[in-house]
Amino acid sequence: MIFRPEKLKIKDQRMKPFIDADEIWGYINATPATKEKVREVIAKSLDKNRLTLEETAVLINASDPELIEEIKQGARTLKERVYGQRIVLFAPLYVGNLCTNNCVYCGFKASNKQLKRVTLNEEDLIAQVKALEDTGQKRLILVYGEHPKYDAKFIADSVRTVYSVRSGPGEIRRVNINAAPMDIDGFRMVKDAKIGTYQIFQETYHEETYAKVHMGGMKRNYEWRLTALDRAQEAGIDDVGIGALFGLYDWRFEVLSLVRHTNHFEAVYNVGPHTISFPRIQYASQLNIDGTHLVTDEQFTRLVAILRLAVPYTGLILTAREPAAIRDEIMQFGVSQIDGGTNIEMGGYAKKKEKENEEQDIDLEQFQINDNRTLNEIMDELIANKYIPSFCTACYRLGRTGEHFMEFSVPGFIKRFCQPNAIMTLVEYLEDYAPPETKARGYELVSEKLDEIEDPAFKANLLDKIGQLKAGKRDLYF
Ligand code: SAM
Ligand code: SF4
Repeated sequence: MIFRPEKLKIKDQRMKPFIDADEIWGYINATPATKEKVREVIAKSLDKNRLTLEETAVLINASDPELIEEIKQGARTLKERVYGQRIVLFAPLYVGNLCTNNCVYCGFKASNKQLKRVTLNEEDLIAQVKALEDTGQKRLILVYGEHPKYDAKFIADSVRTVYSVRSGPGEIRRVNINAAPMDIDGFRMVKDAKIGTYQIFQETYHEETYAKVHMGGMKRNYEWRLTALDRAQEAGIDDVGIGALFGLYDWRFEVLSLVRHTNHFEAVYNVGPHTISFPRIQYASQLNIDGTHLVTDEQFTRLVAILRLAVPYTGLILTAREPAAIRDEIMQFGVSQIDGGTNIEMGGYAKKKEKENEEQDIDLEQFQINDNRTLNEIMDELIANKYIPSFCTACYRLGRTGEHFMEFSVPGFIKRFCQPNAIMTLVEYLEDYAPPETKARGYELVSEKLDEIEDPAFKANLLDKIGQLKAGKRDLYF
């Protein structure tokens, strides 16, 4: 039994742990997936409703290949109907890999004496950010190990530094963070530095497994981590990202727990999580896990489609942990954000590579990534597949928080805001960073998208703004 608020002396009932393993398994074990029921649940999601735990369990339990295909098709339809063809791009930036924890799956674990420990100083951080800006990046997620050195002040300072860096026309317009849990005062401090999303993964929602894979340090405290986002909410950070590390425990349990976590937010704060992430365990220096629950490609595509249908309003993040082929396949199911040009080697973005395609140095990295394409290669691929790559940060900058929710729930929002803003950030990229072939193909896509706009006044307004961007103005948005 997990509910032990008395042990934690929790006075605020909102901070109570809310995952009950028996309840989650109860749904998985007792919910049959008949053809009729699966179709009914998909239809409910396509009507733009979040699914209950029981309904999500129906999708999880569907094993007939024909039904699995219907679930995937449902996710594709939902994406096309609701989100259109935009993909938001970002890059991770590792600020420091000191860590006092011993997570068996992570190369940064304290017991890994092979790892070179690095914390970027201000000068290094600025060099990294400049290198990222020079490729066209506008949105970053800063990542930190868990260590007393990386306290809230350190994190807030690094966020401020990143926002202050300019390289030519480059600037970072949104800084998200992935960092260890803080107390409410700590969260207030990082909120004041104007972070975008605060992201933290529970890794596994299964408490027993959690205890087995977290061998030392603060992270052993399951409840402190589970309630981190509640403390963030208390501190006024309402833009939060949840996630599970797939491969530690049964994927069905983790999917249902992510939905449970979402319900908790909706019930208590009246707003769901901004994003859901679903990293799969990758090779890491001194990786030490038993492989019982590793997730196959087939299970992985299935679980992403299920998550899309279960929580239709939330952004889904897919990272370069996954190889290009899997990323391309899964994007169809409604992934809204991917990283591009990713380098998770400490100090890696600014480092001049001796040789092209130099091998990754696993002793400088948290884990191995499998999509090593440059940002421009990703842009080329997205453009070729008619996705509009987007660096848009408009909602966040205009105080329209919950951008995914708006896209989803406000009729016409995507047409009036997201799509034209994506086009404008693409134009900025084409003008400032794209080689000639990308520029030519990018502008072909822009003109195709302009042709689709029905309202002549709106189209004229957008054309005027694009004209201003071509003339050198920057950072225009609706
Ligand atoms: N130290 C902080 C923490 O643990 O929350 C922040 C960042 S940690 C560097 C970011 C995430 O990377 C972890 O939450 C975990 O899900 C993921 N990760 C760790 N080891 C991994 C591996 N071998 N493969 C894939 N993802 C991994
Ligand atoms: Fe440290 Fe985070 Fe890696 Fe765990 S996952 S060892 S806390 S960096």
